[in-house]
Amino acid sequence: MTANLLDFDIEGLAAFCAGLGEKPFRATQVFRWIHQRGASDFSAMTDLAKSLRDKLAVAAHVAAPAVISQHASADGTIKWLFDVGGGDAVEAVFIPETDRGTLCISSQAGCAVGCRFCSTGHQGFSRNLSTGEIVGQLWFAEHFLRKHLGRDTRVISNVVMMGMGEPLQNYSALLPALQVMLSDHAYGLSRRRVTVSTSGVVPMMDRLAADCPVALAVSLHAPDDALRKQLVPLNLKYPLADLLGACERYLEHAPRDFITFEYCMLDGVNDSAEQAQQLVRLLAGYGGGRSWCKINLIPFNPFAASGLLCSPPQRVQAFAQVLIAAGLTTTVRKTRGQDIDAACGQLAGDVMDRTHVQERMQRLRTVQVVRAPVAVAGAAL
Ligand code: SAH
Ligand code: SF4
Repeated sequence: MTANLLDFDIEGLAAFCAGLGEKPFRATQVFRWIHQRGASDFSAMTDLAKSLRDKLAVAAHVAAPAVISQHASADGTIKWLFDVGGGDAVEAVFIPETDRGTLCISSQAGCAVGCRFCSTGHQGFSRNLSTGEIVGQLWFAEHFLRKHLGRDTRVISNVVMMGMGEPLQNYSALLPALQVMLSDHAYGLSRRRVTVSTSGVVPMMDRLAADCPVALAVSLHAPDDALRKQLVPLNLKYPLADLLGACERYLEHAPRDFITFEYCMLDGVNDSAEQAQQLVRLLAGYGGGRSWCKINLIPFNPFAASGLLCSPPQRVQAFAQVLIAAGLTTTVRKTRGQDIDAACGQLAGDVMDRTHVQERMQRLRTVQVVRAPVAVAGAAL
């Protein structure tokens, strides 16, 4: 098997090229061809010496995970299901807005954290994605969208690691993937336009702060440890005091930033006015009295196995009002792509029933009607 060049950040590619007897600037050229121009065929990289193109053709390839299906929502959202082999599949979702294009990508097939309200969590953990599989979702989506929208400039302006999996439990593959997203020779995304969302893997939050302090979203979901450990089992290992301490330390590396707290609104579980007050008191204990966080209330996307329901809209609004009255910046997330199961926590891949995954993939390949995204996304962009 030859090396997949999507697995490398620019330093990794320079090391790989050095192994072929090539100078580092050659790696930069190759990197730009791949990420900025979407090239996967070395013979098309016309400004490289023929000798290098020949060496690369023997030793390397460029391949994103294969697309099993693509669905376009009425609101312009597009969801792709990628085959990552061994019966596993992961999803990525493109969400166009007037001023930005956000791609939500996956970091693992399944997830080991097992949050009660999350469909990925209910499937259990299958495996970590490689750097190439993480970057491949962006590489594919960006160049697909450019081609189909007839654009030669960037379509994806923001990346959020909010698909399947816990990114901070796959740190060694995540870090080079983030470096590729930020590199000026690749996607050139600014640090604040790349968001890692975590359920609270405290030691890895510290690592990320030191290595690559991108925007951080923390999945909170409860104002106290007793409830949070029921919803997010990782809270048993890293309780709220540890988690919020890590958030404060994170901001020391990114002083003008803020932490976004995600809070999934669950009917009768975590959505009372009293719990909103508790949340205000909890957060007031951190951040040294300055404005240091934002709260994003996410309407729960129900699925049968969870046994949970979404809070009614009035309760979400009442909860938000308590936070806002206390001076906390609070937003209620708009649900996008619900008609194609692309909303938060609906990303199920096809890992659920592992025995029938291959059969289902075959069926998807053969019979699924893939709606063309072009007109919809074009209009929304
Ligand atoms: N593992 C990471 C990132 C992936 S989950 C994390 O937990 O942060 C991304 C976001 O979707 C998290 O905030 C998660 O709590 C939320 N989420 C999961 N299931 C959901 C559901 N059914 N409805 C709404 N949001 C959900
Ligand atoms: Fe994993 Fe995040 Fe889902 Fe929890 S919410 S199970 S951490 S993907």
